Order: sequence, then structure tokens, then C-alpha cells
Amino acid sequence: MKLGGDRETAGMRLSFSRHCVALIWSKRARARIFNESPQGCACIALRCRFMSLNPVQPPPTQDHKGIFTRLPFSEVTDKDLTFFKDLIPGRVVTDEDDLKSHNIDWLRTVRGHSKLLLRPKNTEEVSNILKYCNDRNLAVTPQGGNTGLVGGSVPVFDEIIISTALMDKVISFDQVSGSLVCQCGCILESLNQYLEGQGYIMPLDLGAKGSCHIGGNIATNAGGLRLLRYGSLRGTVLGLEAVLPNGTVLNCLNSLRKDNTGYDLKQLFIGSEGTLGLITAISILCPRKPSSVNVALLGCESFSKVLQVFTLCRDLLGEILSAFEFQDLESMNVVQTHLKLMNPLQESPFYILIETAGSSAQHDEEKLNVFLAKALESGLVNSGTVATDQSKIKSVWALRERITEALAHDGYVYKYDLSIPVEKLYALVEETRVRLGRTAKRVVGYGHLGDGNLHLNITSESHSKSLVAALEPFVYEWTAQHCGSISAEHGLGFKKRNHIYYSKSPEAVQLMQILKKLLDPKGIMNPYKTIPSSG
Ligand SMILES: Cc1cc2nc3c(=O)[nH]c(=O)nc-3n(C[C@H](O)[C@H](O)[C@H](O)COP(=O)(O)OP(=O)(O)OC[C@H]3O[C@@H](n4cnc5c(N)ncnc54)[C@H](O)[C@@H]3O)c2cc1C
Repeated sequence: MKLGGDRETAGMRLSFSRHCVALIWSKRARARIFNESPQGCACIALRCRFMSLNPVQPPPTQDHKGIFTRLPFSEVTDKDLTFFKDLIPGRVVTDEDDLKSHNIDWLRTVRGHSKLLLRPKNTEEVSNILKYCNDRNLAVTPQGGNTGLVGGSVPVFDEIIISTALMDKVISFDQVSGSLVCQCGCILESLNQYLEGQGYIMPLDLGAKGSCHIGGNIATNAGGLRLLRYGSLRGTVLGLEAVLPNGTVLNCLNSLRKDNTGYDLKQLFIGSEGTLGLITAISILCPRKPSSVNVALLGCESFSKVLQVFTLCRDLLGEILSAFEFQDLESMNVVQTHLKLMNPLQESPFYILIETAGSSAQHDEEKLNVFLAKALESGLVNSGTVATDQSKIKSVWALRERITEALAHDGYVYKYDLSIPVEKLYALVEETRVRLGRTAKRVVGYGHLGDGNLHLNITSESHSKSLVAALEPFVYEWTAQHCGSISAEHGLGFKKRNHIYYSKSPEAVQLMQILKKLLDPKGIMNPYKTIPSSG
């Protein structure tokens, strides 16, 4: 099992104008990362997620005193097991060892103690499972690739885990419109590989692509690395099928671009984090695979220069700009230290990763050269490199994509995924650094700058209550004061549900609670997650 993987991109070597040659790293530095380093590209293929992380188990979530008490759901009996074994023979997991990795989240910060995992293969089986659970008042947690970062994908107590791993079939693909219909358990990277063979790509991409499922992506409304170009899942998902807690199959699986008949029910399930129903199939609009892809990594002296480069980028690269990511020096240090990746540039306070994707190599090359020359001449960037072939593109992307993984090696990680007006975005990292002083091991800032999305991460050797007290509510209050959102793309899950009021009005939360009650009157779907209980 892997998290990230091949970034199959048709790379074409560009020739550079005289101005731009000055930007490209020295041959020696290039050889260091791409040719000579034993880590080089080979280390981009990630290891099994649980092998790569701290082997120490987190304490059971139910022991977090005063957070939650178990709601009065039924407990699984032998009779229940017999029912499930008859329904999906050979796909009922009760072995404690086999359940371990499904009870612990990717960050290894929360741990449930489910005694039962079910592996349905189709919608009908999901419907029968949910109907039975609802009748018996058994709580369930839908689980995709279990790469979620807010503790939503694992049980809090003994909820039954419904894994979508065996629901991994492509149902259809329309070569003309680019609409893909598939089951919810398809792994994002596998879908992308399937589409590349047909001249298309998925409209989303994230560091966890080798493990996360498309159903999990939609349930979390994942953002990721291509949102700047292709927009959010709220726009690209054309339709979906979901099973409601009482077993009803809600078929909204059409592939139309335009459909104005009543409420857009699929939107309810996008970002619902398994609390309203289980998404079983999806229809998604996929863009054509770009034939020309370039990636530039640039060094910058200050955050204000990063912002100026962003403006310049939008002016000069326009429609071919497909990603604008940033990371600070501390996050570059963390991938170098823990994953032994090589930074090809000189040390800089900030780095920018820019990707262009288009249909004409010559046209893109000209645009990129003009942009790079201007950025260099105006002193906005101090160093840089451009990668045009696939392996080098992968190596450069790894420096940004693998920060999450590297941080997990650094110690206990306090994660904040925030939307903040872009000009204020880095001020929070600086203030947090000053506030925490030496009590934190690291304070790092990186993210999808093009989308105004900051990932503020703090690490310490082990979990520290005093650090949490210094961070919360400070981070949330700061974000709310600056009109931001306390969850840009990861969702609220178990960890953040009670902080929803920093970003949503009481009236909005109340309406969410009413909707939850309507669809899931017994509250069996992923309890203790996403929205505060209505009491
Ligand atoms: C290295 C790394 C990089 C990441 N990068 C990004 C990033 O750039 N952008 C981003 O947005 N996120 C990112 N994430 C977070 C995570 O990958 C996403 O949230 C992803 O969408 C989760 O998919 P999953 O299949 O792993 O879902 P899971 O973790 O299994 O589940 C997540 C939530 O969705 C629910 N769920 C899962 N499947 C279904 C279903 N079929 N029906 C209903 N509910 C369901 C679960 O109950 C849970 O609440 C990253 C994570 C890692 C580890």
C-alpha cells in the first residue's frame, strides 16, 4: 500500500533564453538531486503508510477524558456477526490484528476499538448493511483509504467500520465529454493512471493519491494540488450515488453538465465526512491530459515577494498556470532531514513551486521564459530551477508533496489547515513561532497559496497539553478575526467539530443539525464527527 506515486507527466525539455539560464541551478547541484543521489527519484515511491510512521500506538480515543461519552448504540452480538457473514461471506473481519490499522488514523493520533470491519463490493450490499445497522441501532464509520487528517475515518468507540476498498471498479468513461463514472473505493492514483491511457487526467491530485479513495475525497471535499486550475469537487463532481442510513439508495448519478431540476442533493454529500450516508459511486468531469508540463522551483527572500511572484504569475502565465504552492525554509528542512530529499536551490526563507500545464510546448516555453526572466530581473526570486521531464518533475514535486509525511517523522504533529486572505497568510506562522518560542520543536508553514490555503504545522517530541493550550483557541481566533476558515480542505472530523462556530453561524450549524436528524434520525452514521450534536 502506498501514499504517493508516479506523477506521469509528459515532460518536454525546453530551451531557455539567456535570462533564464541564469535561473537554472548549476549542473553539479542538478546531478546531486537527479542523478547521483541514491534517494533521488527512487525514494518518491512511498512506503506503506504505517511502516513509515511512528510505531507507538496513540492512546484510545475513548480515554480522552471529558470529550465524549459513548452514545447508547447497540453492541455487536454473535447474531449480528452471523447476519453479516451470510450477507458478505469471507468479507467480515474480526481479527484484532487485522483491525489494528483500521482503528488508528494516518497521523496516529486517535484510536478507536472497533471489533468489526465489513468489506462490501457493491451498492446493494452497502444498502443491506446500513438497513440492518439502522434497524439494530449499530453505529458505523465509513472508511476509504484512511488518509484523513482530522480523525474522521476511524471509530471513536466500537463503531462498525465499513471499508470501501473492494468497491474499486470503473463503471464507464465517456471519451467525448470526459465524464468518468466509478465506484467509491477506486484509488485516486489508479483512476488517474486509467485516465492517462485515454488522454485524460483526474481534476484533483494530492500527496495521499496512492492510498486515498475517490469516495473519501468527495466525502472530505478534498482540495489538493490542482484546485487552482480545475476548481473544487463541488464543481467537477457531476453526480453521485449514496446509501442513506436506512438503506435507501439515493441515485443522483447523472453525468450532465447542466441540471436545474430542484435542489442539488449531491452537494449535501460532498464534504459530509460520512455523517449523512455512504457515497457508493460517483460521476466526475475529467480534463484532457496536458501535453506540455513544466515545473519551476524558485527561492524567495520574503513572503511579500512570494505574493508579488503570484501576481506576476497570474499576469504572465494566465491560463497555463496549474499550481502555485509555497513552503517555508523550515518545511524544506523537514523533508531534507527526515526523507533525505535534496533541495536543489540555495537556502532561502521561502520556496515557490509553480506548475504550468498546456497543449503547446513552444507556447508554454515562451510564456514561462518571459515570466522567469521578469521574476529574476525584478529581484523577486533569488534562485530557481525548471524541470520538464517526468522524473525531474517528480523530484521537485516531492519536496512539496511529502512535507506531511516528513512531519509525521518529526514527532507529534499539531495540524491546522486554514483558509486565510492571502496577504495575511504567513503572518499567522510568524506569530505562532513567537508565541510558542522554544516550547515547540518546529513551526512550519506551507500550502496551496494559489487557493489562499495555509497548512500551519507544529511538532513536539510527544503530545503536550500546554502546547495545545498555547495553540487553541489562539489559532482559531486569529483565523476568525481575519475572516478565514478553520478548515480549508481537510474537514472537521473528530478533532475539529466543536470549533465549527469559528467559521459558521449558529443558525447555519443548527440547519446542519436538522439535516443530519432528517437523514439519520438515529445518528448511526459516523457519530461524534463533523458537527456538534444537537443535544
Ligand atoms: C500525505 C498526505 C497528503 C494529503 N494532502 C491533502 C491535500 O493536498 N488536500 C486535501 O484536501 N487533503 C489532503 N490529505 C488528507 C486526505 O488524504 C484527504 O482528506 C482524502 O480525501 C481522504 O480520503 P480517504 O479515502 O483516505 O478517506 P478516509 O480518510 O478513509 O475518510 C475520510 C472521511 O470521509 C469519510 N468517508 C470515506 N469514504 C466515504 C464514503 N465512500 N462515503 C461517505 N463517507 C466516506 C470517512 O468516514 C471520514 O470521515 C492528505 C493526507 C495525507 C496523508
